[in-house]
This record gives sequence, C-alpha cells and structure tokens, in this order.
Amino acid sequence: LFEDISGKTALVTGASGGLGLHFATLLASQGAHVILAARNVTAIEENALAIRTRGGSAEAIALDVTVSNGVEQLFASIDREVDIVVNNAGISGGAAVIDQSEADFDAVIDTNLKGVFLVAQAAARRMRDQGHGGTIVNIASILGLRVIGHLAAYAASKAAVIQLTKSMALEWARHGIRVNALCPGYIETPINRDFFQSEAGKALVNRIPSRRLGLPEELDGPLLLLCSKAGSYMTGSALVVDGGHLVSSL
Ligand code: NAD
Repeated sequence: LFEDISGKTALVTGASGGLGLHFATLLASQGAHVILAARNVTAIEENALAIRTRGGSAEAIALDVTVSNGVEQLFASIDREVDIVVNNAGISGGAAVIDQSEADFDAVIDTNLKGVFLVAQAAARRMRDQGHGGTIVNIASILGLRVIGHLAAYAASKAAVIQLTKSMALEWARHGIRVNALCPGYIETPINRDFFQSEAGKALVNRIPSRRLGLPEELDGPLLLLCSKAGSYMTGSALVVDGGHLVSSL
C-alpha cells in the first residue's frame, strides 16, 4: 500500500530525536532517501549514520526552521527532487499565560508556526517547479483542537498550523501537492517520559479513553498514509491519532 514511497526523497525537520528521528527511520525503512534536518548537527549525523548502517539511505543537513535564509540554503543544497516533507520540528514552551514571557511566546510561534510556513513554502516552490507534485505533512497536535492549561502558546501555534495546512492544501492542489496535518495525542517520547510518570502526568493519562499513552509506532500507519499514494485523495485534513482523547469530555 505504501510502496510508492520507495525511491522518493523525504525531508524530516527536527530529526535529532523523538518523533522526528522515528519518522525519518520509518520513511527510510520504506525505501525513501531521507534528509534529516535539525539544529543539532552531531545528533542528525549520528542518526543518518545509524539509518545507513541498517541499509537505509540518509543524509543530515543543519537547519533552524525559524531562519528563512537557512531554509533557502537547505533547499539550495538538496541536489535531488524533493517528494515528501514532514514538518516535525516543534517546541512546547509551557507557562501560564499570565506569566509567559514575550520571548518564550515568540519562540513557540516562530518554531511551530513560522517554521512550518517557511519550510512548506520552500518545499512547495520546489515541488511546483519539479512538475509532479508531492506531499507535505505538518505535525500539529490535538492541542490545536482542544486546550489544557499552561500550554497556550503551543495550543495556539498548533491550531494555526491546522488552518495553515488547509490554506496550503487549497492553494497547492492544482500543483498536485497534498498538504495534511497529523494531530497526535500524547505519545511517549524521551522528553515527556518523566512527566508522564509524575502524579500530574498519570492523572492526564487517566483522562484518555484508552488509558495509556500512544507509542511512536502507532503513528506509523497514519504518517505513511499521508506520505503515500494510499492517501492520494486526502488533502487539507487534520488526522487525529489520540486514543480517543478528543472525544472524551474529561
Ligand atoms: P522533541 O523535543 O523530542 O523533538 C523536537 C525536535 O524539533 C527536536 O529534534 C528539536 O531539535 C527540533 N527543533 C526544535 N526547534 C527547532 C528549530 N528551530 N529548527 C529545527 N529543529 C528544531 O519532541 P517530540 O515529542 O518528538 O515532538 C515532535 C513534534 O511532534 C513536535 O512538533 C511536537 O509538537 C509534536 N507532537 C508531539 C507529541 C508528543 O506527545 N510527543 C504530541 C503531539 C504533537
């Protein structure tokens, strides 16, 4: 079902760890050439090497998604066609609204929203010029659709990513470029493992109808669907993968 991914080139932002590394490894396992992009060059080079060691095809290119020149340079340095882009880089910046600093708010919006805009725009220009379309997946969150306390900037940025996704889908369908948002619920990754073992974290998990966190591999099918011909009639969607969290009234 996903075999058209083989031989394609896939760019994954924020691929130094967590879900970005997971998505890069997954796409490489499907036969894509993967470009891992993030600020931490040592980490992405190690990750690309690990993928190649397992027989995959991967390279690492430094990228700060908030810097437009850097995004332009990244695309200029890619000497092959770009078919798949996963806009995964993101930060959470937790704070009560009343206490949040302007700098912290700006950092969340710059990374999570402007970063998606810059990378998707550069990708779409490349895909339009290549002439045979492509697919862009923006990693949003269920917090773009519902809120919890102390993550206002994050929730606002992810809600905006969902609307940005729809606008891009509308404007770029004529170029054969599909743009979708993937909205995970709470997924167990290294950075949140400690929180979800705390009392507050356990209380949050108890409000998920499935009564557990998601695993990164439970995003595999949905991500591959959006990246492949299996999802060829999907564009402008916000695909929720959350163990039922959104339908819960708690
Ligand atoms: P993470 O912190 O492990 O990974 C985030 C990645 O983004 C890192 O590689 C980091 O270096 C990179 N990054 C941050 N700022 C960057 C910048 N300016 N330029 C380039 N790269 C940058 O977090 P994660 O849990 O793996 O989250 C990945 C994505 O999934 C994020 O967009 C996050 O909002 C989203 N998400 C995560 C969960 C979850 O439960 N883990 C749930 C919903 C959505």
